[in-house]
Amino acid sequence: MEKPILSKSTFIRGLQCEKSLYLYKHHYDLKVEASTQIQAIFNQGNNVGILAHDLFPNGVDASPSSYFKIQESVLKTKKFIENGESIIFEATFQFNGVLAALDILVKENDSWKAYEVKSSTSISDVYINDAAIQYYTIVNSGIALKDISIVHINNQYVKDGGIDIQKLFTIESVFDKVQNVLPKTPNQIERFKQVIKQHEAPNIGIGPHCSEPYDCDFKGYCWNLIPDYSIFNISRLNINKKFELYNQGAVSFEEIDLQVTSLNPNQLIQVTSELDNTTYIDKSKIKSFLEELVYPLHFLDFETMATAIPIYDNSRPYQQLVFQYSLHVQNEIGDIDHKEYLAEANPNIDPRESFVKQLIEDCKNSGDILVYNIGFERGKLNDLILVYPQYSNEIESIISRLKDLMIPFRKKWYYTPEMKGSYSIKAVLPALVPELSYNDLEIKEGGTASTVFTQMVTGEFSGDMEKTRTDLLEYCKLDTHAMVKILEKLYEIPES
Ligand code: SF4
Repeated sequence: MEKPILSKSTFIRGLQCEKSLYLYKHHYDLKVEASTQIQAIFNQGNNVGILAHDLFPNGVDASPSSYFKIQESVLKTKKFIENGESIIFEATFQFNGVLAALDILVKENDSWKAYEVKSSTSISDVYINDAAIQYYTIVNSGIALKDISIVHINNQYVKDGGIDIQKLFTIESVFDKVQNVLPKTPNQIERFKQVIKQHEAPNIGIGPHCSEPYDCDFKGYCWNLIPDYSIFNISRLNINKKFELYNQGAVSFEEIDLQVTSLNPNQLIQVTSELDNTTYIDKSKIKSFLEELVYPLHFLDFETMATAIPIYDNSRPYQQLVFQYSLHVQNEIGDIDHKEYLAEANPNIDPRESFVKQLIEDCKNSGDILVYNIGFERGKLNDLILVYPQYSNEIESIISRLKDLMIPFRKKWYYTPEMKGSYSIKAVLPALVPELSYNDLEIKEGGTASTVFTQMVTGEFSGDMEKTRTDLLEYCKLDTHAMVKILEKLYEIPES
């Protein structure tokens, strides 16, 4: 069998950017390796795909013996069809140099239906193109496809006992949508084959396509001339506007023509602060913010986990579930106490109830509760009320005491060039309290904390459990310690 030239994923890569396709085929080493979090998302996708097999019991599996022997699957699929099998998992076909594997192929009354499983909660244009290349390859291999569907996650499903796969998954036919894009598919295939045959990469510059629909893994190569801090870091500036500036020749802030470039007031603060190397402080607004704080002050931060397949009863796919918090309590400046909660990583013990019980206990009844980005903690507390209505009074009382320490920075009442346009705590902390840093920690951000804890719950974690629990505690503790120190810096602003 001839070696395939394109696969489903390289076809989709080519649709995003032909240079990316070329680099993938000829300069794979320039590609940035997937992060642990991206890898965890891939693994989750695989688990969802395997679970979806149960929608069609008693199928045969055409998977290859190794990732590098994918063509084995083509032969297995052919054999299964010849043997009269009616449900084939990982059915794989090759036609015209294109190899495409399909999650589930089902025979019904002498015709076939194709099902591709996605771990997302809706159908995107990429999925239609993905289904089109599958349809093209399968039909041209001589299989009459009556229908092709995407099987995706139903985010309204609430787990109650064992997983009900009929309710967890939604099956949506994309047959008509595939027919709409199909006429373009043969030309696209021919074009991509030509691209791969070229002696050098297509001359394609950077653009919005570098992040749409996916963040390109060759950015490290193509964007290497763009400095770490550039016009692409202007806060909340539309991507097309950033490229308008770039195409006018601007990369650094000095190159922006402020006479003709329209920026909103906050963006102007960022740019002028950078150009003049000045700190911008609205003292009266910060003074009012500080005067309204009610002691004892609580500094609170949550960590959450979210899985495609719900683990605990009374939870939905991808619902963010609290499993950890850190709380610093300050009676007055200098008098500080620390409390924390980290759930047992156990698929049979829902972390939320003991979380909420201890939180109520630790927050007591008085004083403001400062969080950083109030929408997040408030949203999780409201979710807890729905699951544990017996604690609704106490949780509502906690919600009523929440205040947002992010406001002075989001509203640019305090801005320094070191914040580099961001008001996230990860940008504000080094700008205001450079002696405190996340860099020395093993776990440096919430995404990793979430991934690691989820792996512990699902049994996919292979590291040192006790040490990693300590790392989780240290990470979350620094988040609230950072808030304490940031607030101290606001108090230190001289009145005049
Ligand atoms: S970084 Fe942008 S230009 Fe470079 S290969 Fe990726 S999408 Fe294409």
